[in-house]
Amino acid sequence: NRQIRLAARPRGEVKPGDWAHVTVDAGAPGDGQFAGRTLLISLDPAMRGWLDDRPSYLPPVGIDEVMRAGTLVEVTESKHPDYAVGDFVVGTFGVQEHVVSDGRGALKVDKPLPTYLGALGMPGMTAYFGLLEVGALKEGETVVVSGAAGAVGSVVGQIAKVKGCRVIGIAGGPEKTALLTDELGFDVGIDYRADDVRKAIRAAAPDGVDVYFDNVGGDILDAALANLAMHGRVVICGAISQYNADEPVPGPSNYLSLLVRRGRMEGFIVFDYVKRYPEAAAELAAWIAEGRIVLKEHVVKGTVDDFPATLNMLFRGENVGKLVLDVT
Ligand code: NDP
Repeated sequence: NRQIRLAARPRGEVKPGDWAHVTVDAGAPGDGQFAGRTLLISLDPAMRGWLDDRPSYLPPVGIDEVMRAGTLVEVTESKHPDYAVGDFVVGTFGVQEHVVSDGRGALKVDKPLPTYLGALGMPGMTAYFGLLEVGALKEGETVVVSGAAGAVGSVVGQIAKVKGCRVIGIAGGPEKTALLTDELGFDVGIDYRADDVRKAIRAAAPDGVDVYFDNVGGDILDAALANLAMHGRVVICGAISQYNADEPVPGPSNYLSLLVRRGRMEGFIVFDYVKRYPEAAAELAAWIAEGRIVLKEHVVKGTVDDFPATLNMLFRGENVGKLVLDVT
């Protein structure tokens, strides 16, 4: 059983030497357990935070522990009444070729599709609850989303279109901004590498931004704050521009626009909505079937040994849509 374990706490971007590649015995399932073969591994920006030894919403991954990751596995042997050989299961099974599990926190799915790690998995749930619950989106409002060509952002923008909103997406580079408007139905794409983001938001949303869904933090958060509409909401989903920082980062200098505009800024963790995932998944699946949400998935073929290099793609903007490592 090949495994990727954390060898050292990274400083800045995660380096190859921060990981250990080891081979151990796969083990066999006991009563109430099943064994599974890993097919797909999810790559998530949050993984960077799990490597730091500081208080967070989950304990950090320990040194010499198998790297935490959401995966899709196929059951190869079972002594668990709810799982049969050939079942496909999504769970937090870690970066390894084989897993033995009691099924806690796991979910059976019908097919081994990357979508179950993307739009119908954790990122889709994040988009749905972040936008509709935390952002309290109303029909016809103006929405800005950063990281717009990514797993969460691409779904956020498309849900907002389903809800009849004006949608402005911010992403890096002309290919990604073209994707937003040409394929995903966004109204405007802003290239944060080339454009003055603050001015571009003002031009695209002259009456202000009702909901800003923030995936990146930093200067882009400041630019959005400067353009908030009255009673605007800022959804703090993530801040990938800061995850590799090894020094304290400055706070948003435009936060007083929350005061002037009587706005609100609120963070959330998707896991708090776990009981309601089925309701979100059903609605998202219907929109996908109707063609109202287009799936964007970036599947890299490889082995578990390719996990470290694939993870770094997220921090270089090398993925379009949900990044998944296919180890079949
Ligand atoms: P993405 O698929 O969006 O991949 C990351 C993207 O971030 C890259 O493609 C890149 O796109 C962009 N990016 C990287 N570095 C920077 C930078 N310095 N400045 C601006 N953009 C950058 O990842 P996810 O959709 O999985 O995650 C998006 C966000 O949602 C993350 O912040 C993540 O932590 C957060 N999240 C939060 C959850 C919660 O419960 N609160 C749950 C799940 C995710 P580009 O080329 O456009 O720069």
